[in-house]
Amino acid sequence: FKDLNDTRGHDAGDALLCAVAARLRAEAPPGATVARLGGDEFVLLLPQAGAEAAMQHARRLTQRLREPFEVQRLSALVGASAGIALAPEHAVTRQELARRADIALYTAKAQRGSVCLFDAAQDAEAGERATRAAELRQAIAGGQLRLHYQPRVAAPDGALVSVEALVRWQHPRLGLLQPGGFIDVAERTGLIEELGQEVLEQACRQMAAWRRQGLEVPRVSVNVSMQQLRSGHLPGCVRQALARHGLPATALELEVTESLLADDAQGATAQLRELHELGVEIALDDFGTGYSAMAQLRRLPLDVMKIDRSFVADLEHDAGAMAIARTIVALAGALGLRVVAEGVETEVQARRLRELGCHELQGYFVARPLAATDLAAFLRAGGARRAAASGLPLPA
Ligand code: C2E
Ligand code: MG
Ligand code: MG
Repeated sequence: FKDLNDTRGHDAGDALLCAVAARLRAEAPPGATVARLGGDEFVLLLPQAGAEAAMQHARRLTQRLREPFEVQRLSALVGASAGIALAPEHAVTRQELARRADIALYTAKAQRGSVCLFDAAQDAEAGERATRAAELRQAIAGGQLRLHYQPRVAAPDGALVSVEALVRWQHPRLGLLQPGGFIDVAERTGLIEELGQEVLEQACRQMAAWRRQGLEVPRVSVNVSMQQLRSGHLPGCVRQALARHGLPATALELEVTESLLADDAQGATAQLRELHELGVEIALDDFGTGYSAMAQLRRLPLDVMKIDRSFVADLEHDAGAMAIARTIVALAGALGLRVVAEGVETEVQARRLRELGCHELQGYFVARPLAATDLAAFLRAGGARRAAASGLPLPA
């Protein structure tokens, strides 16, 4: 829906909403009330239905909504998810019933386009998410975020190309949390913008410190969430962070994901282009897991494509993964991009990737993500080259 709104304008968005409403009305069981809550959310009241019947209706309706809509002579595809709450089992007041249906909807969305009935565990989870969000806000301001850095090396000789900054949260009660546990919270609560700024700041500060210490780290790679490109502030923030720490733009790379291509509100590409023109390198992260239209790939100002680690993991025993990796290398070559393999864990994987012509390697095989001081020690000891050399192709 948002996509259509952004690319075709609000008239098209309105037309789609009307078409969805009409289809819901036509398909709803007799006696049902169909209403729109706002945005792209609709509500159905089914006074006669129990859990079983409600689930059945919801499944059928979401399925019907997945069939194409004709909007301004274009065919539009939308997904739909549904959350269900029952009265009196789950709640008896209007507000509470709506709140619980909403929590169930959240769970359904997390499972992508499914239908979900409310249960109490979801409620506890929602409470936990709210607490986590409040804590995260304090964590960002209170300096509880730390960066670890993972080296990325040239495939032929193990020369350091970049280090990827990976955020961790030193939680006062729970210990060191991995990003999987809080990035999505940050994205959903709008905190990602602040989090991203903090990461950018720390990464640039660290780069400047390494340079002062005479440690040669050519570039730091910072992950950027799609949402950080919504506000339009990113190019300004990057410029300021670089200036504050006296770094050239070439010392920074930004990693974006394919969701950028699916969502692109025009602005995102333009901002990346602006950054690219400054000299900041742009990498497409986790490539192969999302959906990319080839035409759109070409429009993005990319330098690097990172093969997702799921393909790398399967390289040793899955001919399909090998074929995909080979295809990504060829595609990147055709687009003039460098290819990085992520999640390289074994010598065999490293060797295969080199044979495929992959340019750079990153993964436990070279090094785990390390705290800044550990990374410095690792580099001083020549660790990257040593690790990479052990995976060089064997003489024929
Ligand atoms: P990513 O950008 O694809 O980062 C690579 C992830 O793979 C990291 O996990 C890294 O620790 C892990 N990894 C590296 N080598 C290996 C390996 O050989 N084997 C295996 N199994 N895993 C390996 P991490 O640090 O948990 O980060 C997960 C994701 O969180 C990142 O995926 C990135 O999408 C996101 N993330 C991390 N830091 C930030 C940040 O500052 N901002 C944003 N927006 N996202 C971040
Ligand atoms: Mg990354
Ligand atoms: Mg990745």
